[in-house]
Amino acid sequence: MQTDFDVVVLGTGAAGMVAALAAHDAGARVGLFEKASVVGGTTALSGGVAWMPDNRLARDAGLPDSRADALAYLAALSNGLIRPEMAEAFVDGVAEALNYLETKTPVRFHLLPIPDYHPEHPGGCPKGGRSIEPGTFSFAGLGDWSDRVGIGQFSDPVTGHVYMTTRESPRGGGAGRIDEAEMQRRREAKVNGRGRGMIGALLAACLERGFAPVTEARAVELITDGRRVTGVRIEKDGKVHDVTARGGVVIATGGFEWNADMVTGFLRGPMQHPASIPTNTGDGQAMAMKAGARMGNMREAWWMPVCLLPGVKQYGEQKVVLILRERALPGGIIVNRKGRRFVNEATNYNALGGAFHQFDPVRFEYGNLPCWLVFDASMIERYGFLDVPAGGTMPAWVPSGATPEELAARVGIDPAGLRASLERWNAAVAAGSDPEFGRGDSAYDGFNGDLSQYPGKGATLGPIGTAPYYALEIVSSTLGTKGGPVTDGHGAVLDNDGLPIHGLFAAGNAMAGPTGMVYGGAGGTLGPAIVFGYRSGRRAAAQVDAMVNA
Ligand SMILES: Cc1cc2nc3c(=O)[nH]c(=O)nc-3n(C[C@H](O)[C@H](O)[C@H](O)COP(=O)(O)OP(=O)(O)OC[C@H]3O[C@@H](n4cnc5c(N)ncnc54)[C@H](O)[C@@H]3O)c2cc1C
Repeated sequence: MQTDFDVVVLGTGAAGMVAALAAHDAGARVGLFEKASVVGGTTALSGGVAWMPDNRLARDAGLPDSRADALAYLAALSNGLIRPEMAEAFVDGVAEALNYLETKTPVRFHLLPIPDYHPEHPGGCPKGGRSIEPGTFSFAGLGDWSDRVGIGQFSDPVTGHVYMTTRESPRGGGAGRIDEAEMQRRREAKVNGRGRGMIGALLAACLERGFAPVTEARAVELITDGRRVTGVRIEKDGKVHDVTARGGVVIATGGFEWNADMVTGFLRGPMQHPASIPTNTGDGQAMAMKAGARMGNMREAWWMPVCLLPGVKQYGEQKVVLILRERALPGGIIVNRKGRRFVNEATNYNALGGAFHQFDPVRFEYGNLPCWLVFDASMIERYGFLDVPAGGTMPAWVPSGATPEELAARVGIDPAGLRASLERWNAAVAAGSDPEFGRGDSAYDGFNGDLSQYPGKGATLGPIGTAPYYALEIVSSTLGTKGGPVTDGHGAVLDNDGLPIHGLFAAGNAMAGPTGMVYGGAGGTLGPAIVFGYRSGRRAAAQVDAMVNA
């Protein structure tokens, strides 16, 4: 294994891959190390959508946006958790990072018609413009590497490839179908869209440049000379290798959501089961702490409500399914064990995490966990549910009851409370608005609901009254944590005095998230991961001579 580099990048998600490419193209000899046996991190599993404010594609499409609007939007949602210089570095970095990917790598983006997640806030975009996704990429030229990219959320169960993009799905404005001839072409060409396609394209760019990720290579400790980080210890094949990084080490090791001690030690509230890949155990955050980094945003994660699929595994762990559409469709509400609603069910998933964290100081418990999505037979008849098509039969593992009371008794909800909530909900639906939680008031709410009624409130408001009734337990999860070493706008890690730790950089979910608690819109995690991956890679490469001569 080669052990002497200019820049060493840890992790092969979007942040790490982009950092490695940017460092290489700025003249550095790059080492790219990955703990897992496959590449791509949570990025390969993901939808691949990136939230990139004030981007060229929106301008070309005539959609209004500006630097000032993007910054006003982030500031309006900051709650004191966003450092303005990091918001500026992100927004100002979009154009260069996008231009780099589209001109120097095979990644090509297109716009998605997805509204921002808080579109009515100052600077918000109710008609979209900031969410973009990569086009498809053929894995045919990747050789053996084709089988060494992690599986995606929408991977074909047999081939592992992800054939449909978000743009082709109903939420992206498409039909949700690919005709058979085109499907055949995609199968033969090993075409991949979404996060897996993005990783394949970035991997192809690395291979073209003559460097490949080293897999099953876990970074365990930073090496310092007392003044600066000079390398990193990598565990590979049962041995520990000292790897030199003349310009710097970029930590792009993702979040710490799979590290139980860090989860209880840092996160602001319950996170019952992560949705990401299990190698994200906070190694990067731990190494940075040991090197004296100041840590930031450690309480925050990209929160997500999910359900657990009994008996199904993903990456060797319990498979979770993101609950996006089901909680926005007309005909379902979420209740706690008192049978009470506690949130606008259709609001964006990240903000909804706050409702799971409400603490009852008298009972001394989190009052909204456990909770259930309660819905009825007419919802399945009209829309289907999870993998069940419209008009299909619900699987037996989802508890049901002939009456709300029977259902409530079966799962442990207060029957009278549930009955009262359903009556209030049905009255609200009949009146055409939800006075309790304002569901349907935002342009975002109905977007995941019944699109045939969007943007009307009927896209998300609908009665519940047709037996049988169902209750699916909703679990507080995360796509990844977003706390880590505090950096400057180029990803350079700062120490407790706010001074750079020379030779150390961070990007993606491993860094102190530049957007604080905010998930700006679809792609809110990958947008900053790409921008700071690019910035940190370039800056680390630029340090090579400075470091060597220091
Ligand atoms: C189902 C799903 C769908 C999603 N869809 C979207 C979406 O459409 N848009 C969006 O913005 N976000 C989405 N997300 C979230 C998004 O995928 C992540 O936030 C993002 O991929 C994080 O990128 P990253 O590069 O920071 O980390 P990752 O992609 O997780 O990569 C980190 C890598 O570091 C490796 N690593 C860890 N420790 C070490 C070590 N010690 N040494 C070496 N390597 C190490 C890991 O194995 C991993 O490969 C989704 C998430 C999920 C679960």
